[in-house]
Formats: sequence, C-alpha cells, structure tokens
Amino acid sequence: MTFYVSTRGRAGRRSFEEVLLAGLAEDGGLFLPEHWPRLSGARLRALDGADYPTTAAAVLAPFTEGCFAEAELLAMAREAYAGFAHPAVAPLRQLDPSLWLLELFFGPTLAFKDFALQLLARMFERVLARRGETITILGATSGDTGSAAIAAIAGRARMRIVILHPAGRVSEVQRRQMTTVLADNVANLAIEGTFDDCQDIVKALFNDPVFRAEQRLAAINSINWVRIAAQAAYYVYAALRLGGLERPVGFCVPTGNFGDVYAGHVARRTGLPVDRLIVATNANDILARFLASGTYEAGTVRPTSSPSMDIQVASNFERLLFELLDGDGEAVAGLMARFSRERRFTLPPERHARARSLFEGGAADEAATAAAIARWHAGTGGSLLLDPHTGVGAAVAERLRGGSRAPLVLLATAHPAKFPEAVEAATGVRPALPAHLADLFGRPERFSVLPAQPAAVADFVRRLPPVPS
Ligand SMILES: *Cc1c(COP(=O)(O)O)cnc(C)c1O
Repeated sequence: MTFYVSTRGRAGRRSFEEVLLAGLAEDGGLFLPEHWPRLSGARLRALDGADYPTTAAAVLAPFTEGCFAEAELLAMAREAYAGFAHPAVAPLRQLDPSLWLLELFFGPTLAFKDFALQLLARMFERVLARRGETITILGATSGDTGSAAIAAIAGRARMRIVILHPAGRVSEVQRRQMTTVLADNVANLAIEGTFDDCQDIVKALFNDPVFRAEQRLAAINSINWVRIAAQAAYYVYAALRLGGLERPVGFCVPTGNFGDVYAGHVARRTGLPVDRLIVATNANDILARFLASGTYEAGTVRPTSSPSMDIQVASNFERLLFELLDGDGEAVAGLMARFSRERRFTLPPERHARARSLFEGGAADEAATAAAIARWHAGTGGSLLLDPHTGVGAAVAERLRGGSRAPLVLLATAHPAKFPEAVEAATGVRPALPAHLADLFGRPERFSVLPAQPAAVADFVRRLPPVPS
C-alpha cells in the first residue's frame, strides 16, 4: 500500500483517503508518497492504444491503494470524462515535424483543471458516502480553479462549495462560469480585495482549528495531492500516443503554481521515460529565475494576459524541494520559514544542479506571448488560436527547443475563448465560445459581495443551511 508523508516531516504516515480529505498536512506541509510507486514497462506497454479513462485508472491505481481499486477508479474516470467535448478527451494536434499540442480544454469549463476536479469530486462523493460524513470545500480562485471546482461539485450529495474570487478582478467569462451555477450547494463570494486577500482568508480559516473541524473543511486547490496524481495521466497518455517508450517525449508546460508541470515529474518518477520538462512562466517568473540562479525569491505579482499564472509563490515547488533535500522535512520546514520571513532563499550549488537536471525554465513577457499567438495563427493559415497561457508556453518552447528533433509536446491549458480579449488583440480574431456555453452572457448570476475579512467569510459560511448527509 502507498502511504503519504508531509514535506515538513511531522505528520506521520497517512493513507490515501486521509490525504484526499485533508488537502494540506497539519504541519503546514504538502503530502507526497513515502515511496514512488512504479508502473512497469510491461504495464505501460499494455496501455498503448488504451482510451483516456483506462489510462487514468491505471496511472492512479498505485496511488489510491487501500481506498479505490482500479475497477472503481475506471468507473469514476469513465463518468468524469464522458462529458468532455472530444472523443479522445486529450487530443494531440501536430504543429510541425517535432512539435505537438496536447489540447486539454475540452472539459466543461474549458481549462485543464477539469481533468483533476471532475475526478476529485467523484472520489469525495464515494468516500463521504462510505464514511457517512459531509464536507465544506473552501477555496480561492483567480479564475480557472473556481469554475472547474464548481462545475464538478454542483449538485453532489454530502458536500458544498464556497469559492472566493477578487471582485472585479477575474474576466467576465471566468466570473460567469462560476456565478451562473445556481445549485443549492454552491456559494460564490466576490471579495473586496485582491486574489492574495482571498487566499489569505482561506488560509486563515483553514488554520482556525475550531472552524476547520466544525465545518469539516476540504481543499480543492493544487496542494491537494489528488489533483497532481490525476494530471500525471495525460502525460502518460500523450507519450504513449507518440511512441514515447522507444523515443522519450519532452513537455513544455505553462506554469503558475508548479502543479501541472510537477504532475509530469510524477509521471516520470512512476516510470514514464521523459526527454525534458520545460517550465514556461509569464512575467511572474520566480520559477524560471530559480532554475537559472538557484535563488527562490518572490517578486510582486504583475497582472498579465495569462492571469492563471500570475503567481509569485508556487505552492507545489515545496514538493520538489523535499526531493532536492533528500526527503529532509526539517530542512524543508526551515527553508519555508526563512522564505516567509525574508521572501527568498538560495540552495547550495549541488541541490540547484539537481533541480536543473530535472527541469528547464524560461519566461515570456507580454510582447513575446502575443507574438507567439500571432505567429502560430498566421503560420497555420488562421486555423490555430492559442489562449494566452498556451501562448507563453509556445514562446518558451520555440526559444528552448533549439535544433532538437526530439518530439516536444506543448500543453494547451485553456480554450482560446476563455480569454477572448488577449487572443483578439494578438490575432484580430475573436474566438467564439463552444456551443454549451454560447448563452453564458444571458444566464442569471448569483454571488455575494463581502469585505476582505476572514470573520465575514466565516459568518457567511456558518449561516448557510447545513449540508444534507
Ligand atoms: C492553472 C492554470 C495554469 C497554471 O497551472 P499550475 O498548475 O498552477 O502551474 C496554466 N494555464 C491555465 C489556463 C490555468 O488555468
């Protein structure tokens, strides 16, 4: 059975079920498997040609031992991905002889976050039914996580979801994707403040042991291990489609919180041959700077056209740090404490070199991103529109691939219609919303506006009707 430990070393060994429900460890760390489970070469070869749900169940099974058997995972995965608007679920589109686009935006809310959240919601449902318990999911969003989580949780038994977004600071498409879901178990809060204020409120409420226990708080952001493990599946799926067992494939990943690209590392650790993992950031380039210099230093957040990557503190980086420090939880806790005091730390050269052997990094500013979107639009005779997050990845991929002919997969993390202004500014073409969202701007919205204070949010949650069990 796979057990989990905290990156800060003080939470003991935990089962998958505990990790699923807890999100963050009590010592403030993030959960990781105590040992990496391996998918053998034979097991990987047997997945060649398998459909997406079968691949996802096989990749996840070693992580969920003791909680879900593979057949149960497969049933959940079939349901989770049935609603995706492409029969391949995660189709590959070839862009040139050695570059492919992995299109991860066919889920209900048009971004890759649907992959993990659709599955996570079904896992919650099964485990809560077994235990006879209920939860309140509390999260902050700068856009995409909130809508994907709400779409996955709406109408499900034994749980409700409360999502905080910064009032007036998410795009209209993003806001409406959240606020037009009128299910009884969904509450949207527009907070009079920034995304950081929203995140601070959520952290404060999770750190309040009384409120946390009374509401049975659960987390859906990418500190939750299940999100990472679920995303590892599409790396395996894409690599197998490109013959990746014989000729390892590389991936270039638009990155904010280091969750998605870290999922590629998880796929590698469980046995997938991977040529390279490229971390592509926008102007908020803390990760690219760390890979270049060995110093991890937060700057101030700069708003860009790829808002889901406007992050200066990449939570999942702590998972890599744990590995770079040979699993020394005390050392990780020490560095994280220093980081919260001084907003920076530097790794010794040999640890930094190890990070560089695992990841490459690059940043694209607004001009480079718009130029990449425009170039791919023109170069394909107008048939390809990249969303601005994918545009960042395209700019970095073009710069870093050099003369290499090894296959490289660029992750397309969102549908261009989710960010129509930026796409139109770069190409002159305004992408249309897919049919199931075509009437989004005519749907009624529901949300409450609250000041940026934890007590106001706690009061609001306490006044909600109890979750039916
Ligand atoms: C969340 C998001 C990202 C960044 O993913 P991380 O896991 O935070 O690195 C990139 N693109 C889009 C469209 C997103 O929604």
